[in-house]
Amino acid sequence: MPTKKMPVKKLLLAGAGHAHIGLLRRRCITPSIKLDITLISAQPQFVYSGMLPGWMAGHYTLDNIRIDIKSLCSQAGVRFIQQPITAVDAKSQQVMTTDDRHYSYDVLSLNTGADTDMRWSHNAETSSVIAIRPLSEFITHWQQILTDARQSKKYQLAIIGAGAAAIELVMAAQVALQQINTNHQVILVCGEHLLSGFNPRFQQRVMKQLYRHGIRMVQERATGYRDGQLSTATDSLTMDAVIAATGVMGSAWTAATDLQTIDNGFIAVNALQQSVSHPNVFAVGDVATRVDEDMAHSGVHAVRGGAIEADNLLAYLRGEPMQNYQPKTRTLYLLSCGDKYAIGSWGKFSVQGRWVWYLKRKIDKRFINAK
Ligand SMILES: Cc1cc2nc3c(=O)[nH]c(=O)nc-3n(C[C@H](O)[C@H](O)[C@H](O)COP(=O)(O)OP(=O)(O)OC[C@H]3O[C@@H](n4cnc5c(N)ncnc54)[C@H](O)[C@@H]3O)c2cc1C
Repeated sequence: MPTKKMPVKKLLLAGAGHAHIGLLRRRCITPSIKLDITLISAQPQFVYSGMLPGWMAGHYTLDNIRIDIKSLCSQAGVRFIQQPITAVDAKSQQVMTTDDRHYSYDVLSLNTGADTDMRWSHNAETSSVIAIRPLSEFITHWQQILTDARQSKKYQLAIIGAGAAAIELVMAAQVALQQINTNHQVILVCGEHLLSGFNPRFQQRVMKQLYRHGIRMVQERATGYRDGQLSTATDSLTMDAVIAATGVMGSAWTAATDLQTIDNGFIAVNALQQSVSHPNVFAVGDVATRVDEDMAHSGVHAVRGGAIEADNLLAYLRGEPMQNYQPKTRTLYLLSCGDKYAIGSWGKFSVQGRWVWYLKRKIDKRFINAK
């Protein structure tokens, strides 16, 4: 009797974010089905945002904060393609890349992150503003900032943003630039609402740390940066460089897809982290927005939601039941203050100290070094 051959299904992983790293790290990705898995990523290495401020402040080397995606793929038996994706045609089940190649799939998982939201700038010269994302490009910009600062008597840097990322960046930058020359100065342009959504005690602790570092805060919204002048509603500030950590908007490629999107280009997903328009497409992390609940775009949800999403896409391929990702009501957030000091927030509670920084380091290292 001829043996029945098991059909091979194509699983395409787009982006090498937190969720896909978790999937690649599973010892046996597909125990009971035959899968042909390809991962397409813009970069061969993943830069871990949680440790990026620590690298800027000089606590970590670049190797300490990156994960080699190419070798992770080869260990997991996954084909690796280094190209940014430019479009997804869900009807014909194909993903397009910058080199005009098309990759077909049976099931697609999206974990490409998001772009920095630059819509705050009214003038055309946004190209001279350094966006925090993509992180791999930011690394090159930061190295240039340090080179320029070393050659200047006085260097003025502005960080724009009011979230936890902007605050970590401003303190890390201040520590790094002050080590070069105490004339150097970093300012935070943050509008009126600093750290909205965090508890008031945590916000007070952060303000004290900004004060301790001598960081000037401009509580106005930035409106543009041109010819070295950063404009706000009432002022114009001379700046050598401007970094935008102004939240996220959908990745540019989401303008070229028939997948349903929401809120300026995020892939609309349900509680299974599954596209609401195409059930064979899953998306997780910053690239996606849940339609059923208000969930912040964060690394925590990229990791935790990613573990559920990975289970779900394999269950979908096997025809098995899937499970919802139910985010916890409180998540631990540890904010580093530039000099091996950190503040923690968990619901209504907050703590601070050097031990909090060491706790953060332990958690971050556990993620980066996991096998
Ligand atoms: C300085 C800083 C500190 C932060 N600290 C924290 C923190 O402590 N805790 C927390 O919860 N959140 C934190 N965040 C937020 C966190 O970084 C994001 O929410 C998280 O990175 C989202 O993870 P992700 O897996 O969706 O995408 P990402 O981590 O952004 O990964 C996306 C991947 O896809 C690749 N990619 C991008 N575009 C394409 C494309 N077109 N084609 C193919 N591949 C592509 C990228 O190269 C990257 O490897 C921080 C952010 C910043 C900027």
